[in-house]
Amino acid sequence: MSKHIQAVRGMNDILPQETPYWRLLEDTARRVFEAYSLEEIRLPIVEKTDLFKRTIGEVTDIVEKEMYTFEDRNGDSLTLRPEGTAGCVRGCIENGLTHNQIQRLWYKGPMFRHERPQKGRYRQFHQIGVEFFGLAGPDIDAELIMMTARLWRELGLQNLQLQLNTLGSAEARIAYRDKLVAYMEENQDQLDEDSQRRLNSNPLRILDSKNPAMQQLIVDAPNLLEHLDDESKQDFDQLCALLDAAGINYEINPRLVRGLDYYNKTVFEWVTDQLGAQGTVCAGGRFDGLVGQLGGRDTPALGFAMGIERLVSLLQDQVELAVDAAPHVYLVMAGDGTTQAGLMLAERLRDIDTRLRIRSNSGGGSFKVQFKRADKSGAQLALILGEEEIARECVTVKDLRQDAEQKSIDWDELGSYLQNHLNLN
Ligand code: ATP
Ligand code: MG
Repeated sequence: MSKHIQAVRGMNDILPQETPYWRLLEDTARRVFEAYSLEEIRLPIVEKTDLFKRTIGEVTDIVEKEMYTFEDRNGDSLTLRPEGTAGCVRGCIENGLTHNQIQRLWYKGPMFRHERPQKGRYRQFHQIGVEFFGLAGPDIDAELIMMTARLWRELGLQNLQLQLNTLGSAEARIAYRDKLVAYMEENQDQLDEDSQRRLNSNPLRILDSKNPAMQQLIVDAPNLLEHLDDESKQDFDQLCALLDAAGINYEINPRLVRGLDYYNKTVFEWVTDQLGAQGTVCAGGRFDGLVGQLGGRDTPALGFAMGIERLVSLLQDQVELAVDAAPHVYLVMAGDGTTQAGLMLAERLRDIDTRLRIRSNSGGGSFKVQFKRADKSGAQLALILGEEEIARECVTVKDLRQDAEQKSIDWDELGSYLQNHLNLN
C-alpha cells in the first residue's frame, strides 16, 4: 500500500507555473464576453440526477457511463455536473430569467465525467461556457461564433478550424433518421457494439462514433444536409453568409452531430490538429427545445462550451507568457525591534501600492542567511532594516541583480522611490 494518499485518477492539480495560463484564458474570455454584453452566472456543481437524464439524453455516453452519481444522506440521487448547459437552463427557468426575457450568459467551472483519462481528457476538467436565451437567430448564431473567433485572436491562438453543420428541425431529423436507420441496417455487419445498440435508440449518435473502424461507413452514410426543412436551410445559408462577411473560415461537416441530444439547427466545433486525438477545444450550437423540455415556456437558445485544459495546452505551446511572479523586494530584518518595525513598514508600502510585491523575511536568521533567501526569491531589491536603520527611520536598498551602490532611503520616501525604480504592473 502506498504511504501517500494520491489524487483521484483523472483529477489534476493545477500548479503555480500553470495558473498564469489559466488566468490568461479566463481573464481574456471575460473581457471578450463583456465586449459582447454578456453577464456571468454561477451555478451549483451538484444537481439532481434526473436533470441530466432529461436534458443530455439517456442514450448518450455521458448518461450511460460517465456520470459521477451518488446518493446523499437523504437518499436523493445527485450527480456532479458533467456539463453546464443543463444546470444553466434549470437555473434560468427556476429564477424566471427566461420568461419573456433575453439572456446572454457565461459561466466557468469544473465538470466531471468518468472517462478514460489521457492527454486532453480528464475526469475533472474545466469549461468556460456561454448560453443565450430568447434569440432565434441566425444573426445571433453568427455573432456567437464571431465572439469565439475574437477570443482566439485576442489570445494569439493559431491553427484552429471551425467546423459547421445544421441538424435541421426536430421533424426533419425524424425523417432523416429513418433513412439513416435503413442504411445502417443494410450494413449491420459493420457496426460496432455501441452502434448496434444505438441503431434502435439513438441512431444519429452513430455518426458521432470515434471508432476508426466505423469511419468509412459514416462517410458513406446519407447526408443530413440533403434532408433539411426549408427554414433550417435558409437559416444555415444566412449563417454562412454572415460568417463569410466577417471573414471567418469554416468547413461544413455533415457528420458533425455533437454528443448531446438536445441540439437542433446550428452546431459547430473549433478543432485543432495540434492536440492529438483530443482536438475539439470548443463546441456548441442551438438547442431551441431544451427550455420547453424542462418545463419552461418555449424559448430559443444556443451556446457553447470550451475545454480549458485543451486551450491551456495550446497556449503553452503557442504563446510566450512573460510570467514574473517573483517579489520585487525582499525585506531583510535583523536586530532588536526590527521584526515589528519591518512588518509595519511593509504594510505601509502595500498601503501605498498593492502592485508592489514584497516578501518579508520570515523565521529570522543572520544577514547572510537572509541575503541567500533574498537572492533565491528572485527579488530585484533587498531592503535592509537593522537597528541603525530603525534609529534613522530609513532602510538600506541593495540591488540584487546589478552592480550599484547601496542607498539609504527614508521610510517616508520609500514608497515613491520603489514606484519609480521598479517596473510595476
Ligand atoms: P469529446 O468529443 O472530445 O469527448 P464532447 O463532445 O464530449 O467532447 P462537450 O460535451 O461538447 O464535449 O464539451 C465541450 C468541450 O469540453 C470539448 O470540446 C472539450 O474541449 C472539453 N471536454 C469535454 N470532455 C472533456 C474531458 N473529459 N476532459 C477535458 N476536456 C473535455
Ligand atoms: Mg465526450
